[in-house]
Formats: sequence, C-alpha cells, structure tokens
Amino acid sequence: MENRRVLNAEELLEKIFFFMNEMVDTKDFGSTILLLTELGRTLANSERASFWYWDRAKKEYWTLVALDSPRIVVPEGSGIVGASIAGNETILINDPYQDDRFNQEVDKETGYQTRSILCIPVTNSKGDVIGAYQAINKMDDQGYWYFDDRDEKRLAMAAVFCGKTLESQILYSESQLDQLTGLKNRRGYYEYYEKNVHPYLLKQSCSIVMADIDFFKRVNDTYGHEYGDMYIRMAAKCLGTLEQQGGIVSRRSGDEFYAYIDGDSREELYRIIRELHKTLGQQTIILPNREHLKLRGSAGIAWYSKDASNYDELIKKADFTMYTVKHSNKGRIAEFSQEEYQRDEILVSGNEELNKFIENKLLKLAYQPIVDVHTGEIFAYEALMRPKMEKLKTPFDVIRLAKSQSRLMDIEVLTWETALEDYFIHKNGGNGKKLFINSFP
Ligand code: GH3
Ligand code: MG
Repeated sequence: MENRRVLNAEELLEKIFFFMNEMVDTKDFGSTILLLTELGRTLANSERASFWYWDRAKKEYWTLVALDSPRIVVPEGSGIVGASIAGNETILINDPYQDDRFNQEVDKETGYQTRSILCIPVTNSKGDVIGAYQAINKMDDQGYWYFDDRDEKRLAMAAVFCGKTLESQILYSESQLDQLTGLKNRRGYYEYYEKNVHPYLLKQSCSIVMADIDFFKRVNDTYGHEYGDMYIRMAAKCLGTLEQQGGIVSRRSGDEFYAYIDGDSREELYRIIRELHKTLGQQTIILPNREHLKLRGSAGIAWYSKDASNYDELIKKADFTMYTVKHSNKGRIAEFSQEEYQRDEILVSGNEELNKFIENKLLKLAYQPIVDVHTGEIFAYEALMRPKMEKLKTPFDVIRLAKSQSRLMDIEVLTWETALEDYFIHKNGGNGKKLFINSFP
C-alpha cells in the first residue's frame, strides 16, 4: 500500500489548478472522467476513488480505471453507489463490514480490504443525479484513517465541479454527433478532421467517398418514417465500419453520408470501398409484412492528389461524382472523371447561376425568319433563347441545368414572356407575322 502524504494547503491548490488546466484542454469524455476521479481522490486523500457515471438508458453505472482498459459496468441500483444515487444522498461509512449496504463479495474475491467509504452523488445544473463519486479508504500520514466532515465537504466541492464539467462535455459531444445514427455530424467531422487529419493530408494517399441511399423517398413514402429511420441507421452502421479502418464517417444530411479514408495505396482503399458497397447491398430491414428490404446506395469517390490538390476540392469532386452516378446509373460506385467534370460541372454548381438567369431575365431572343418556300416571303419568326451569362454560355447549358433542377417550366415562362413583350411592345405586333416559340414537351 502506497502511503499517501496529506498535502498542505499550497500543494493542494497547485494540484487543483493542475487538474483544472488539464481538463480545459481535454475534450475526450474518458480522459475527463479520469481527471475528475483523480481530483476527487486528491481532495478526499483516499487510497482509491472512482467516478460512476449513470447511464439511465441502459440502466447501469460504469466507471473507468484507465483509458486503455474497458469500462467496469454494474447494474443500476448496485451497492453503496446505488444507494447514494437513488437517494441523492451522501453516504459515509467508516465500518463497512457492519453495514448491510456494503457488498463484501468484491473484497473476498480480490483480497482487498475496504476500511472506509465516502460516496457523494453528482448532479447536473438541473439538479438531476448523473452519477456518484466514491472514495475508498481514507489515508493520513500514518496510514489508514477515517473519513470525516471535512472530507465530505471537500469531495462535495469536487462533485459540484464534476457535475458541471461533465454536463458541458456531454453537451459538447452531443453537438458533434448525429442523434439518429450516432455518426459524426458535419461539425463533429470537421473538428475531428481539423485536429487529426488535416496536418497530415498532404503526406498520404487518401480519398473522400460520398454516399447516398437510392430511392429512399420511396421507403419513407411506402413504409413510413420509422422504417425510413431504420434504413438510415442500417446504412450508417455499415458505413461506420470504415472508422475501424482509420476513416472518418459522417452523416451529411438526410440519406447522404461522406467518409474520409487514407492508406498506403489507392488500390487498397478502392478494394475496401468496393467491399463495403457489397456488404451494404447485403443488408436488409424487415418490413411490417415480414418482407426483407435490401439497402441500396450509390457512391462517388475522389482521390487525393490525382483529382484534387486540397480538401475542399476533393469534397466537391466526390460530390460531383456521386451526382453523376445518381443521374446515370444508380446503385454504382464511381471514381471521379475529369472529362465528365469539364462537361457537367455546371449541373452541380449552377444553382445560383440559374437563379440569377431567371430572376434577372439574363437572356435575349434571336428571331429566326421562317420563309414560305413557295413565295419566298417571310411569314413567321421563331424565337430562340440565348443566355447573356458568362457561365451559362449556350441554350443547351440552360436547359440541361434547368432540367436537372426541375425548373424547365420557369425557363418556358421566361421565354414566352420575353418573346411576347418583344413581339407586341417593341416590334409592333411583328408586322402581322406569326411567332413560333419552342415549348418543352
Ligand atoms: P435518390 O435515389 O436520387 O438518392 O433519391 P431518394 O429517393 O433517395 O431521395 P433523396 O436522396 O433526394 O432524398 C432524401 C430524403 O430523405 C428526403 C427526406 O424526406 C428524407 N429524410 C431526410 N432526413 C430524414 C430522416 O432523418 N429520417 C427519414 N425517415 N427521412 C429523412
Ligand atoms: Mg437518396
């Protein structure tokens, strides 16, 4: 047994500030719990201490003794901790073997001798109990001693600090996670990426994979949102396995996900992605009529540094690739193609251009005369739409973009309005000639 010297006031203050500084710097829940545990042990000057976190959903308490060892889990209501949490009360026992609430079995199994216990509930800012501190075997300079009011007061201060710290940690980690799937949300993804990947990006072969469930709206519409949610969770669970291979996976929105993975070679990464796509296609959810509904998804991959020289470009190109899969042959995974990008990039990034085109009426009409072949006379004009924009150069660009965004009707209305204005207001009724306007089928 290590003889723990009682710290004088100055040493104690130094220790407290040390723990607080460490805690400010750590965002990891496990590390925070270990620091809080050590803070409690120091303040109570006990041989051992533990902080038991109450997982209400699972109806259990868990604690950590080290970051690299598994959690110790006990059922809700167990032992002195259970009594302290259930009654939201401090329990101080200096003769545990005489107390019915003390479970002697653990000591018998391990050979450890519990001599004194101080257990204090930890609450959040609403006053709800979230766990409990347990200090075991009070020490003084001579060896084992007894807990008293002073220890209780000190551990209670640690408990207040512990409650506040964990509450902000929980809020922080919730703000990083997608509630439906447990995957990182966009914010969690970026924070993790900025901290862990960004500094190394330029050194490795890596890729971004964009994935989206196919025909998902049909699942929602046919079986309801509950089954839709189940479908999303199933996809997330499958994609989440990439994290075991060092990747970062995030739910971007709705049924769309993206993942960053890196490794030694592109071939190896591509093999992993293909395998995952295959596994995803084998997953099913069971419908109310007991039928099995298979998961289907499409994905686009962009490689660093072949396709992009920085991260934002990589995302953009993976996004583009998924878009092209969705609009050609769903259910595939495809790699970025520069040729397709040059041809179709406007379809993905042209939303704002199309808005400008429509709102500001950035078009002019060219009038092509139509001649009667018998008389050689012009009897009509055909109005041809011509965009006046740098990025949308041809009518074909406008029509493809409008079609991809289901806005062909807006273009049709704009063309009709402009042609009729030209014809009746400026051209004085077209001198009695007919006007032809092309209409979308
Ligand atoms: P595509 O094959 O082209 O990907 O089309 P899709 O039917 O899968 O539809 P799309 O990806 O465009 O739309 C995703 C839909 O997901 C739209 C929205 O109603 C639905 N959605 C978004 N978030 C949730 C959610 O949290 N739960 C459920 N059940 N549905 C969601
Ligand atoms: Mg989809």
